[in-house]
Amino acid sequence: MSTPSLRLPYKRVLLKISGESFCREGESGIAMAELASVAEQIRDVVKNGVQLAIVCGGGNILRGKQFADISQQIVPSTAHYMGMLATVINGLALQDALESAGVPTRLQSAIRMEGVAEPFIRRRALRHLEKGRVVILAAGTGSPFVTTDTAAALRARELDADVVLKGTKVDGVYSEDPMKNPHAIRYTDISFRDVLAQNLQVMDAQAMHHCMEHNIDIVVFNYKKIGNIARVIAGERIGTRVSTDGRPA
Ligand code: UDP
Repeated sequence: MSTPSLRLPYKRVLLKISGESFCREGESGIAMAELASVAEQIRDVVKNGVQLAIVCGGGNILRGKQFADISQQIVPSTAHYMGMLATVINGLALQDALESAGVPTRLQSAIRMEGVAEPFIRRRALRHLEKGRVVILAAGTGSPFVTTDTAAALRARELDADVVLKGTKVDGVYSEDPMKNPHAIRYTDISFRDVLAQNLQVMDAQAMHHCMEHNIDIVVFNYKKIGNIARVIAGERIGTRVSTDGRPA
């Protein structure tokens, strides 16, 4: 059982971490050391009674569209299934990183593979969350041609999450690419409409629409900074919060 919760604004959280979090900067594959500090942060969050589901990406191994674009012999849908399987490989690595940090977990996959993961079953996922287990959601939606951002938004809806946390390596959403324009400004709060109108990089458009229609805030933040996951969940104003009205909470 989880410890009784502090008064936190978010009780049930969907965290999306992309494949690039699983490897060192500029590399591919999996570096377990990269996952260890994230696992420790997650342990601290779960200790406070937060229910946490994590959708993992697979871009450190394979992205369906990119692979199909360069491999003429592959059918695009096959490439996307390969991308989904990459997220299962990441899910297994994340599961062991979390369990080494003492965090109880369950791995659920949208593509059935009983030998390595439970199938995604909404009610079962909810039960795990209530019991204080971190639920790792792998294989995206189980269908090709979308990304794990969309999977994160859909699962957030299904599991009634209070918020989608998009863990990135940057501090939030900027008006322009801060690497190209040092005068780019970081938004602390912005509306879904403004993100879409300005074509800002938050999550893909389908994911944004799901969150917008169902009033689920997205917080984009640098989760690599130790303690940031807990800070966001505690309601501290770090990163960028995307919401319906775009005003501070
Ligand atoms: N994918 C898919 N359906 C889904 C989720 C993912 O086909 O519901 C495939 C897609 O090809 C994608 C790949 O899996 O490129 C890896 O996911 P993603 O690119 O979202 O990973 P990330 O960019 O977050 O590392």
